[in-house]
Amino acid sequence: MGTHKIETQTVPDPELVNPHDAIIKITKTAICGSDLHLYDGFIPTMESGDIMGHEFMGIVEEVGKDVTNLKRGDRVVVPFTIACGNCLFCKKKLWAACDNTNPNAHLMEAAYGYSGSGLFGYSHMMGGYAGGQAQYARVPFANVGPLKIESDLPDEKVLFLSDIFPTGYQAAENAQILPGDTVAVWGCGPVGQFAIASAFMLGAGRVIAIDRLPERLALARSLGAVTVDYSENDTDVLTALKDLTGGIGPDSCIDAVGLEGHSTELQGVYDKIKTAVMLETDRPVVLRQAIQAIRKGGTVSVPGVYGGLLDKVPFGAAFGKGITMKMGQTNMHSYMKPLLERIEQNQIDPSYIISHRITLDQAPDMYKVWRDKKENVTKIVIDPWA
Ligand SMILES: [Zn+2]
Ligand SMILES: [Zn+2]
Repeated sequence: MGTHKIETQTVPDPELVNPHDAIIKITKTAICGSDLHLYDGFIPTMESGDIMGHEFMGIVEEVGKDVTNLKRGDRVVVPFTIACGNCLFCKKKLWAACDNTNPNAHLMEAAYGYSGSGLFGYSHMMGGYAGGQAQYARVPFANVGPLKIESDLPDEKVLFLSDIFPTGYQAAENAQILPGDTVAVWGCGPVGQFAIASAFMLGAGRVIAIDRLPERLALARSLGAVTVDYSENDTDVLTALKDLTGGIGPDSCIDAVGLEGHSTELQGVYDKIKTAVMLETDRPVVLRQAIQAIRKGGTVSVPGVYGGLLDKVPFGAAFGKGITMKMGQTNMHSYMKPLLERIEQNQIDPSYIISHRITLDQAPDMYKVWRDKKENVTKIVIDPWA
C-alpha cells in the first residue's frame, strides 16, 4: 500500500488472460530479502494495491488451452523469473534475460538499455505481475516455468526452488570455484546460506561467512563455514580475510547482500546520506569490500540485488587486480530440476533455514520483524490457507 505499508486484503481471484496461462492455488509462499527493497521503497514503480511475493508453489487449478505439460491437480514450484522459452535469450538459456515477458520493458530500457524478464510481484517496471503472497496466482508461460513435483517431498523442502536455492547456487557457480578454493560470502541470509552450501557442493575447500547476526552466523557454521562477525569490536573484514588467507585474499567473493548494505564504518554513513538526498540509489558497502578483498585474478560474484547508480566503487582495484565479476538475476529454469534432484538425493534439506511459519494475516507484522531482523528470524514461510 506504500513504503513500509503492507496490508492483507481480499481481492478478486486471478483469471486466465492468455492461452498459455495457468492459475495456481498456492500452498506455500515465502517472504524474500529482496521483498524488503520494495518494502523500504528502494525499487520505483510500485503502486498502491500491488500484490507482493515471488517465492511460491501450489496446485494447478486451471490451465489455458495452449498449456500442454500441466494439468489441473499437478503440484508445482514456480520460478520467480518469467520466461517465454522461445526468444533469442531463452534459447541461449539466459532465462532471466527473456525478451518477451516484461510488458513494461520500455521503463527498464530507459535506465538499463535493455530489459530483463518479467518478475512476479516486483514492481511495474519488472512487468507489474501480481505476486504470490496470496491464495492464488496467474502464471504466464506455464509450459516453460513451473517445475512439477512428482515425489511426496513436503512443500517446505522444495519451496525454495522458486528463488533462493537456485539463486545461491548460481552465485556459487558464477564464483568459478575450483576444488579446494577459499570462498568468502558476505551476508548469511537465505541466499548467502544457499551460496555457502552450494560452494561446498562445487568443491570449495573453505568458506568464510560474514554477517553480524548470531542466528545467521550459527546457521553458516552448521554448514561448515568459518564465520566473521563484523560487528565485533575491532573486526575489520578486510584484515580478517587477509589473516584467514595467509595474506593472499579469497579466491572468490560472493556479495549476497546487495543494495541495502549495512556498515558500521564511515562509508555506511556516507551512503545513508547520499541515498537519502537521492545522489546515490544503492548502498554498495559489500561490493566495495569484495572488490578490495578478492585476491589478484579472483572472481567476484554478485547475487545481491542492485538497482541503480553506485558511488565510490573501486573499479581501479578491479582492473588493477585483473578480477572477473559475474552477476545478475538467476537463470532459474536451468537450475530447478538439477537442484530438485539434489534435494531428492538428500544432499540438502533447504527447510533448515525456516524460523517462522505464519498466516497471511500475520504477514504485515512479519515484514517489520524481517526488516528489523528481530525474533532471530532467518526465513518466513506463509501458509495462505491457515
Ligand atoms: Zn526471492
Ligand atoms: Zn524468452
